Amino acid sequence: MEWLKDAGVPWPDGARAAACISWDCDGDATAQLSWPDDVNGHAFTTSWMQHDRVAIPRIVDMYEYYGIKQTFFVPAWCIEEYPKVFETVVANGHEIGMHGYLHEGASHQSAEGELFWMRRCADIIEKFSGRRPVGNRSPGGLMSEKTYDYLVQEGFLYDSTLMHDNFPYVLATSAGNILELQSDLMANDDWVQYAHVWDLQFMMQPRSPQEAGAVYLAEFEAAYASGSAWIASFHAQISGRLARLTQVGRIIEHIQAKGDVWMATMEEIALHVNKCISDGSWKPRVVDMPLYPKGRIPALRPGFVPDEVALRVTPPIPWTD
Ligand SMILES: [Zn+2]
Repeated sequence: MEWLKDAGVPWPDGARAAACISWDCDGDATAQLSWPDDVNGHAFTTSWMQHDRVAIPRIVDMYEYYGIKQTFFVPAWCIEEYPKVFETVVANGHEIGMHGYLHEGASHQSAEGELFWMRRCADIIEKFSGRRPVGNRSPGGLMSEKTYDYLVQEGFLYDSTLMHDNFPYVLATSAGNILELQSDLMANDDWVQYAHVWDLQFMMQPRSPQEAGAVYLAEFEAAYASGSAWIASFHAQISGRLARLTQVGRIIEHIQAKGDVWMATMEEIALHVNKCISDGSWKPRVVDMPLYPKGRIPALRPGFVPDEVALRVTPPIPWTD
């Protein structure tokens, strides 16, 4: 990749790349929020937590076998409701990151409500794990104009929701800066590979674990070649199933066989990247947040062109709104 102008991060101990396979443990939070008066009527989403009770201890066992610590993003309600499931995550030294209270989308909340629940989630995770969370992944990839200001104000170290870059980068807000550990909800997420969820009208043709694994490995190899961090976002209810988790294990073996990849929690990766930024050994891209000023862009405002030729607003697809 001689043509690549981006400089790789100088990882610890001369490692060529970093990697973290993170898990979003959504459980049945989505079901509670979507059908509060009829939650028992939804087989797919109510099965998720029941399956997570099986899958999460299995994932922790797998990580113990491979000798790695990784990151779990958990809606705080799931921790309150199913503490035993997550005790094993904490006991084994993994990181717990914030993932909403009931997997609520920040863009659907009031500004006051978003901050209220952010603080409550951090309190719950701190009380449960003994450590205040330092990382956030916004449920559903939905954020408000205030989300990143709030994360900075509340002392968060990093976010991992956005897909602006293939390297870690910095979000500049009116409250200060925060590191973004880049997500990729298309290539490094299991949802699009496997999710077939009637409850949410999200029905992909599930791929085989080998096909999905080929997508992830291509992404890992590109991150490895370029000196970036490969960050996967998997879901316990989706990739915690036997055949798929076996494939995740194969990927870990592939990474470890390289001999020069730093597998670490996202907190560890963020701390290291920030250190490199501070000492000048690596320069990140900086993106101003929010991306757009409040309100419509001029081309979509009344009067920009005569009404009969005005661009028509296209409604969002149902699943995202
Ligand atoms: Zn989620």
